[in-house]
Amino acid sequence: MTAKIIDGTALSRQIRSTVAQRAQRLADKGRRPGLAVVLVGDDPASAVYVRNKVKACEEHGLHSVLERYAADLPEAALLERIAALNADPAIHGILVQMPLPRHIDSQKVIAAIHTSKDVDGYSVLSAGELLAGLPGLRPCTPFGCMKLIESTGEAIRGKHAVVIGRSNTVGKPMALMLLQSHATVTVCHSATPDLGLHTRMADILVAAAGRRNTVTADMVKPGAIVIDVGINRDEAGKLCGDVDFEAVREVAGWISPVPGGVGPMTITMLLVNTLDAAESIIPGTTA
Ligand code: NAD
Repeated sequence: MTAKIIDGTALSRQIRSTVAQRAQRLADKGRRPGLAVVLVGDDPASAVYVRNKVKACEEHGLHSVLERYAADLPEAALLERIAALNADPAIHGILVQMPLPRHIDSQKVIAAIHTSKDVDGYSVLSAGELLAGLPGLRPCTPFGCMKLIESTGEAIRGKHAVVIGRSNTVGKPMALMLLQSHATVTVCHSATPDLGLHTRMADILVAAAGRRNTVTADMVKPGAIVIDVGINRDEAGKLCGDVDFEAVREVAGWISPVPGGVGPMTITMLLVNTLDAAESIIPGTTA
């Protein structure tokens, strides 16, 4: 069997066209959706990430503000800026690019973002909403993975899903979203002995370990849906995921490539979250 490719670039393009339409409809009502991106310090990779996010907003009719601060910005000053953005009616989503300089407590900063504007879905309150099965803003990468899985048209209900990785930003929310979609979920991590024992039982396998070749062909159930979240480099410096793509595609039913799978979906879901935040009027906020 050769797996069908889950094309994240194509799905992303499709979702982004609806984003542009929704943004236009809101703008026509005088409520242009707005995202504030806050960058502290001069980490070159972070600078590229925030530029891409701001560019995506501009291309799809969202208002965006990029606030850049020196690496020595005091924590109190950053918290003041967050408070101002919380109160700004033109801003519906606030994203603070991680990692922050060491003198700033990132948990405190994330907690300062109003839940209704937490478009990264990283706060304890947003995580609690997901855990409790309540509506709320979901972390963009696992949210994008769910869209990729759904795009196959295969049922999730009753399937066995295995997630490799238990980070707060990818693995754990991914497991909760699959659970909410009625999958039976196993979470594997760096202390899991015999990873293959679990992955071979997966109808849906999500790899988010951040290690090349974590998933090889012998670890995959024939016909499974395989979603590769990892971003790694091979010996030649070429971008690759956690899954041995060429070998696994001969076993799986569906597979997302790297690049062109999860990557494009992450920023797309950030745009979707910003629109969702702009469309919902949540009591107690100025949004
Ligand atoms: P992380 O380092 O915080 O977590 C990695 C997790 O994988 C940990 O829970 C660890 O226990 C587990 N793990 C590591 N090696 C393992 C192994 N051999 N077997 C089983 N479990 C193992 O990383 P993260 O932030 O969750 O990101 C994971 C990967 O996804 C990284 O490569 C990251 O770059 C990528 N990522 C991609 C996107 C995207 O938009 N495409 C977004 C976020 C993260």
